[in-house]
Amino acid sequence: MPILPKFPHIDIPKSNLLEYLFPEGSRLSEEPLWIDSSNPSNCLSPKQAVSWTKRMAIGLDRLGVKSQEVVMILSPNHIFVPIAYLGIVGSTRIFSAGNPIYTVPELAYQMNNTGAKALFVHPTMVETALAAAQKAGLPRERIYLFSDRPSRPIDGIKDWRELIGTPEEARKYKWKTLYPEEAMKTIATINYSSGTTGLPKGVMISHANIIANAEQTMLIKFWDTGYDRTNHPPERNIGFLPLYHAYGQMWSMVLTVKMNIPNYIMEKFQFEEFLRVISTYKITNLQVAPPILVMLSKRPETAKFDISSVTHALCGAAPLSKELQNDITKRFGIRVTQGWGMTENTNGALFVPFKEHDNTGSVGRLVSNMECKLLDDDGKEVEVGQPGEIFVRGPNICLGYWKNEEATKETLDAHGWLKTGDIAVIDKEQRFWIVDRKKELIKVNALQVAPAELEAVLLEHELISDAAVVGITIHSEEWPRAYIVLKPEAYDKITYDDIHVYMNSKVAKHKQLVGGILFIDEVPKLASGKIVRKQMKEWAKRDAAML
Ligand code: AMP
Repeated sequence: MPILPKFPHIDIPKSNLLEYLFPEGSRLSEEPLWIDSSNPSNCLSPKQAVSWTKRMAIGLDRLGVKSQEVVMILSPNHIFVPIAYLGIVGSTRIFSAGNPIYTVPELAYQMNNTGAKALFVHPTMVETALAAAQKAGLPRERIYLFSDRPSRPIDGIKDWRELIGTPEEARKYKWKTLYPEEAMKTIATINYSSGTTGLPKGVMISHANIIANAEQTMLIKFWDTGYDRTNHPPERNIGFLPLYHAYGQMWSMVLTVKMNIPNYIMEKFQFEEFLRVISTYKITNLQVAPPILVMLSKRPETAKFDISSVTHALCGAAPLSKELQNDITKRFGIRVTQGWGMTENTNGALFVPFKEHDNTGSVGRLVSNMECKLLDDDGKEVEVGQPGEIFVRGPNICLGYWKNEEATKETLDAHGWLKTGDIAVIDKEQRFWIVDRKKELIKVNALQVAPAELEAVLLEHELISDAAVVGITIHSEEWPRAYIVLKPEAYDKITYDDIHVYMNSKVAKHKQLVGGILFIDEVPKLASGKIVRKQMKEWAKRDAAML
């Protein structure tokens, strides 16, 4: 019998995300909603935001981008990223954003894979973007500079303000109505995830998926508090999570909009600046990943700032120990509750109600309208207290992988169950704990690293004949480690350092082989040629014990 939520079933609207967030005819607030944390006079209210998003949509019409074609964004966080997101999505195009630290090949891969029809790029990233666009065959006329202030043309690339509609035109623009069936099928975003195996793939998230996950999350936030989305004590949010990732998108561009919570957007995470923003603007709520809590707990800068305005922190995206969770609560009076989710289920599927004082390290309970199974290696449901792989089903589960039916079939079965690759146990009260990860994925600083991607880059090296990459845990942090077989002629020609230099030129910082490199004679493989990942993990554990 599948595990069913303890939370009540909710009636979830299915519509265009923009109609959900800003219903036609509703009164739009003129109070700041997105605020530049380094210059608060640079801000946008919902009223301004709606006008700007419509102007963006008109610009995309002019550019000839069709419904359900992809528009890419390459930018650090700023207050106009939500404008691009909502304009693209509301006009039924698809939003896909690159990590601003991507190298040219990484960005070209995403551009090519999505078949992006337009690119909006921050002026500081034009060089990488142009090189990637050339590789992916995206014409220069479809690239625009995109920042929160007007920019002069760079290399012939113009500012996005030259493309978009006027405020008058925006007044007449209406979002396309999506009927429930359409809202369930119309793709809103494509974020990249390697899922349980292989290379990063585009996860197709529909309008209905986002709305469902927003509703499920708000129920948990207000559970047992007597408050709801329209009536709650004033809150202030800080938006430092990257907006190219599902976690940042859900909180900074959907939930805080729906709940009308001002959001101080940080361009880039820098710890001392993060503390300054919290203390200056009396931030009340945080959404974090474990490395931020490690910094709060360990770094001396924390003592220099008053962070007493923060009452609650949601922590997700990677494992958090209960010791650290409890330390933060004890020292700073911040209630830390965990959540678990993945790009493939829009954002979150398990949460501890935000009001609860959990000190057990649980990632919470199943959200409304979902079902869950914990299965052993033979596909049998496990008993309470026994570890099993999480399978989930519900209205927030993605439509599958973009242009990759084979990977979709491996991950989503015909009955809609999503295979997650995470191992959990539950107790009688249906609280979940994540105890292991069965899939290949490595998480560095809570960001995804796909071993298959690093292996492919290593195999492009002329002196490497085979390679396997696996996560190694050193002082509770996970890093990619490579086991490499050299070609016979390579032995006196290449060193570990040479390989690090080679990799560092090809991949973004979080994918670098910080976990080390070891030359070996043979990569353990099955007859099918598949790497025996389980054995590689054992090797990494053995090596970690010797470090
Ligand atoms: P992403 O798709 O980038 O959000 O990564 C999803 C993966 O992050 C999950 O499949 C887990 O492996 C991991 N993850 C997310 N939340 C947690 C959590 N609370 N505890 C442990 N691992 C987590």
